[in-house]
Amino acid sequence: ILLTGLLSALFMSAASWLLLTLYQRPGKEIMQGIKRGQFHVEYQPLVTAHDGQPYGVEALLRWTHPTEGMIPPDAFISNAEAQNLIIPLTQHLFKLVARDAKFLCQQLPRGTRMSLNLSPLHLASESFRQHVQEWIADMPKDHFNYVFEITERTMVGERNAGEIFAWLHEQDIKIAIDDFGTGHSALIYLERYPFDYLKIDRGFVQSIGTETVTSPVLDAVLLLAKKLNLKTVAEGVETGDQAAWLVNRGVTHLQGYLFSRPLRPENLISYYQRQAAL
Ligand code: C2E
Ligand code: CA
Ligand code: CA
Ligand code: CA
Repeated sequence: ILLTGLLSALFMSAASWLLLTLYQRPGKEIMQGIKRGQFHVEYQPLVTAHDGQPYGVEALLRWTHPTEGMIPPDAFISNAEAQNLIIPLTQHLFKLVARDAKFLCQQLPRGTRMSLNLSPLHLASESFRQHVQEWIADMPKDHFNYVFEITERTMVGERNAGEIFAWLHEQDIKIAIDDFGTGHSALIYLERYPFDYLKIDRGFVQSIGTETVTSPVLDAVLLLAKKLNLKTVAEGVETGDQAAWLVNRGVTHLQGYLFSRPLRPENLISYYQRQAAL
């Protein structure tokens, strides 16, 4: 009995080890991907709504897996979050952006917005402030204006959010609420926290023009943003009709394939040069 007990315990632990290893595989791969330089960053331009001029960029992480090819961030960010790897991954993002920025700052105008997506888990961690300070020290001095994009779910159960946001503002970092309208109970956050930008989710933008009666929800959101004095960024703008509709409703900034896809640094510089030549 003792022996079978021992054996079955051994078997169980081997099985759970195997399960854990299988489950951890993507995590290991993320760490390996970091070490082996499989990640890079692409920058998608944002434009000012009334004149279409470049306003800034959003940094978007890209992973080129050696066998699976390009893995979209939606497929690995949540994995990284679930396996406690979002902090090393974001630190890697900081490093990549700082490296690109040394090159980009020679060509992009001073004051260009540099927007980064941050995870709630990182924001709530003790090392967050130190990581941000190190990143800023690593960036070209006084060239970019920083924006951190945070999704609504960030705030859920995050008691220190107010304090962290105040600290970010002290560092001159603006805060955008991302994917607005896709989460839960977002309205309360708008009143509670000092956001600077509201990013309207692509889903809303895509619905423009498909209904004869235009989206009453989007209308209400834009009215609210105006009341709260927030700048608004509509993402996923793909057609001229969508852009026109949004500009008419007072949206301040636009982002989407209509203007540009996310670009590698060299191509981003060409984009800026083309726009300046218009
Ligand atoms: P997001 O923050 O909402 O980013 C916008 C996404 O919409 C990007 O997808 C972008 O490529 C895509 N997009 C932009 N314009 C258009 C358009 O006109 N049409 C269409 N169909 N799509 C458009 P991407 O790069 O695949 O990123 C997906 C999400 O992954 C992001 O959504 C963001 O939540 C997350 N993510 C990306 N990079 C990072 C990162 O460095 N850190 C964290 N924490 N999350 C990231
Ligand atoms: Ca974003
Ligand atoms: Ca978004
Ligand atoms: Ca999104």
